[in-house]
Amino acid sequence: MKKLIFHIDVNSAYLSWEAARLVKNGKSDIRLIPSAIGGDRQKRTGIILAKSIPAKRYGVTTGEPISMALRKCPNLFLVKPDFALYERCSKEFINICKEYAPVVEQFSIDECFLDMSGTEYIYEDPIKVAYEIKDKIRDTLGFTVNVGVSTNKLLAKMASEFDKPDKVNTLFESEIKNKMWPLPIRELFSVGEATAMRLKKAYIETIGDLAKFDVNFIKSLVGEKLGEQIHNYANGIDNTPVLAEPEAVKGYSISTTLSEDITDIEDAYKVLLSLADSVSSRMRSDRGKAYCINVGIRENDFKNRSHQRKLTVSTDITDEIFAISKVLLDELWDKQTPIRLIGISLTNITKEGSDQEELFPDERKEKLRKVDKAVDLIRYKYGTNVIVKGSTYNSSLEVGKKYKAQMENKREPK
Ligand SMILES: [Mg+2]
Repeated sequence: MKKLIFHIDVNSAYLSWEAARLVKNGKSDIRLIPSAIGGDRQKRTGIILAKSIPAKRYGVTTGEPISMALRKCPNLFLVKPDFALYERCSKEFINICKEYAPVVEQFSIDECFLDMSGTEYIYEDPIKVAYEIKDKIRDTLGFTVNVGVSTNKLLAKMASEFDKPDKVNTLFESEIKNKMWPLPIRELFSVGEATAMRLKKAYIETIGDLAKFDVNFIKSLVGEKLGEQIHNYANGIDNTPVLAEPEAVKGYSISTTLSEDITDIEDAYKVLLSLADSVSSRMRSDRGKAYCINVGIRENDFKNRSHQRKLTVSTDITDEIFAISKVLLDELWDKQTPIRLIGISLTNITKEGSDQEELFPDERKEKLRKVDKAVDLIRYKYGTNVIVKGSTYNSSLEVGKKYKAQMENKREPK
């Protein structure tokens, strides 16, 4: 199966983030005037970290000394960098990405890769989703991004560079020849100034030239490893997976909007089982156990209700989580008002090994745990569809689609 990868890149990140803050505080938009982030105007020290498009027209470049930039553009508006602000903005846009993608890899403070493979279960049109993510970031956070769409990280990253700002660009394999090959080699990811010079001496000017040359010749020019890499890149080849960094997990949650309102408790239980199954399996794959279980519903008038239960002994067992969820659902639902959304979240997560229960192993629990383990293993190896627990709700249900995509991504890349 072909992968689907997005690369998301904030347009002139530091400057946009500063501008968004100023605009929010009722100030004028520094993106519209010659402006830059970096250094100290009075002392004329430091370098340009980011510049506005109007500043670029004056020839101001990222990385150049402030003094040089001020010579090119004497009325350049300079703002000192504020890294705490950048961290915040970075987190905010990555969080929006995480709403859409099962696996997000932060590549730098203002760039990330989204592995959208398998999301065809959720979204019909990948390009539409790309626009949606881009617009949502712009409309909720006040700064723009570019989205590159392709089948691997390299091509997605190249695509996000094409046309800025606030754009979605694709670079699928069929487009390499027209969109990527005419570009100068310096534009190829991981070709630096020195490498470009060496290639140019051998009359390799464009990415297309590089792609067509014999790989051994390229290796002789720039070295084995880099030679092979850039030759692959020029041909659009990149097999590196999108890797989500392990983050301190606060909890696991899952919810589903039902295809039709539910009024029958037995139907609700089936959905609940399916949710408990998905969410606990996800937690187990991180070796987590929960001290707190929360069940929430949305009634058909959009009223939300939820109940939670704190446990004295943490659990990762599907059956236990399901049993407690049932009790919680019973408590919070009058069983008459139709419900259209059910969710479970597991919080107060602990990692294995620190629990008193391990000192007194409970036979029944051990058995259940073994069953869970076996089921998880089969899923991990063969995909999520293989096993559906006893009486889960009809398979057309939306349950666990995001989860499904998540697990697809956790499996070894082919
Ligand atoms: Mg950027």
